[in-house]
Amino acid sequence: MRQSPIDIKTSDVVDDFAKQFIKYGPLVFSGYHSVLVSGVNNGYTVQFSCDGEESIHPTLTGGPLQHKYRLEQVHFHWPSEHSINGVKYPMEIHFVHVRADLTVKDALKNEDGLTIVSVFCNVQTELNEPQQESSKELMEYVPKLLNTGERISGIILDMTKLLSVNYNSYYTYAGSLTSPDCNEAVIWIIFDTPIYLTDAQYRLFSKVRRHNFRALQTLNQHIVYRPPHATFNTPQIVKLFDEMVQVVTEFFRHVTKFMTKGFKTR
Ligand SMILES: [Zn+2]
Repeated sequence: MRQSPIDIKTSDVVDDFAKQFIKYGPLVFSGYHSVLVSGVNNGYTVQFSCDGEESIHPTLTGGPLQHKYRLEQVHFHWPSEHSINGVKYPMEIHFVHVRADLTVKDALKNEDGLTIVSVFCNVQTELNEPQQESSKELMEYVPKLLNTGERISGIILDMTKLLSVNYNSYYTYAGSLTSPDCNEAVIWIIFDTPIYLTDAQYRLFSKVRRHNFRALQTLNQHIVYRPPHATFNTPQIVKLFDEMVQVVTEFFRHVTKFMTKGFKTR
């Protein structure tokens, strides 16, 4: 009933003014600046898994998440699994998180046991400086992980560079894992701003595997939400409200004038 990935039709996305799904304020990413990971080519994708005690893993809260989630691993799909208005990106990065109060086994059985943050990746011939920031961080280790079974330990990644997106602008829905057993246990958070790779960098991934995406799934119970921008932008609401008061006041002034005038004429 809630399988992933899906095509997100932006005209059907609910601006969640009523906080039906996005109930917990802005997203808060903690500890993503310096993450200890091991990289591995598992024959299906390149994956960076968090090392060390669970207590040092980065955590995510807020947005649609009632609980705290810890980052477990990051991996790549090319082309992207989700599409927007029928269009896929060249790549999609999945940041897989598990509810901090559950074991992985229990999380897989829970309707909100996991959250996957998704960042799209676009490809260009040349990148400007800010675009290079994320591609440099991403591509430092991928070229050493092109063959099945290759592994590197003790890597420190600055994952904020891979998350160089607008934290207030995302799509979110209750879905599933996109690999077996496709557990319906995932809250998806899909950023709409992509990061960038060069053509040459992107081509390296095809050496790992030609592609590795699950087919788009039929829509059943899926409702996709996005935060209404005003939620995080109080000054704008105040301004709009002021303007509205002014318009209404003006309107009544005119009505009063008209009524007085009309009365006098009679
Ligand atoms: Zn994935």
